[in-house]
Amino acid sequence: MGPPGVGKGTQAIILSKILNVTHLSTGEILRHEIKMNTKIGKIAKSFIDHGNFVPDKLVLDIISEKISIKISNEGYLFDGFPRTIPQATGFDKLLIEMGNNLDAAINLTADENELIKRIIDRGKSSGRSDEAIDIVKKRQKIYWDQTAPLIDYYQKKNILKNINGIGEIEEITERILQVIY
Ligand code: AMP
Repeated sequence: MGPPGVGKGTQAIILSKILNVTHLSTGEILRHEIKMNTKIGKIAKSFIDHGNFVPDKLVLDIISEKISIKISNEGYLFDGFPRTIPQATGFDKLLIEMGNNLDAAINLTADENELIKRIIDRGKSSGRSDEAIDIVKKRQKIYWDQTAPLIDYYQKKNILKNINGIGEIEEITERILQVIY
């Protein structure tokens, strides 16, 4: 978890290799569906382009399908999921059905103004349709309204790990590895 622009995707890619787990980014999956112009992609685009969250059911169906496929490695690293309380409770149900559990919820933290600056710089080269300034600000607000309550949710489950997301990429990876081992 962490607000848009904090570096979740970058850290998730590095960590999934180190930990030998499958990286599942709902944002990446949705962007792929949009690129392929699928039915899911068309629905997702109408939400993402306006900086809104895609409906919980659609996201839960995607995750459910992805994790039902048997894999041979050590597990999964979820990037950008769950993002709302209904997604988290739906995910808990899925995990129970599978006889599985979450080891940790990593929360990357950073100053909001620094993030808005970072994300707009990234938008200049990423070509992402959701990185214009007004949309970025809206995504930040939605994060604080809808995703930040998950911090409390995972704190109560005793699996929350707060990590300072400001610093060099390697430094942040190291901080995360220290709290999950
Ligand atoms: P991300 O790449 O994680 O920043 O996601 C980009 C956009 O995809 C988000 O701003 C949402 O519109 C959508 N999205 C990604 N993951 C989710 C999710 N778990 N729930 C709802 N919408 C999502």
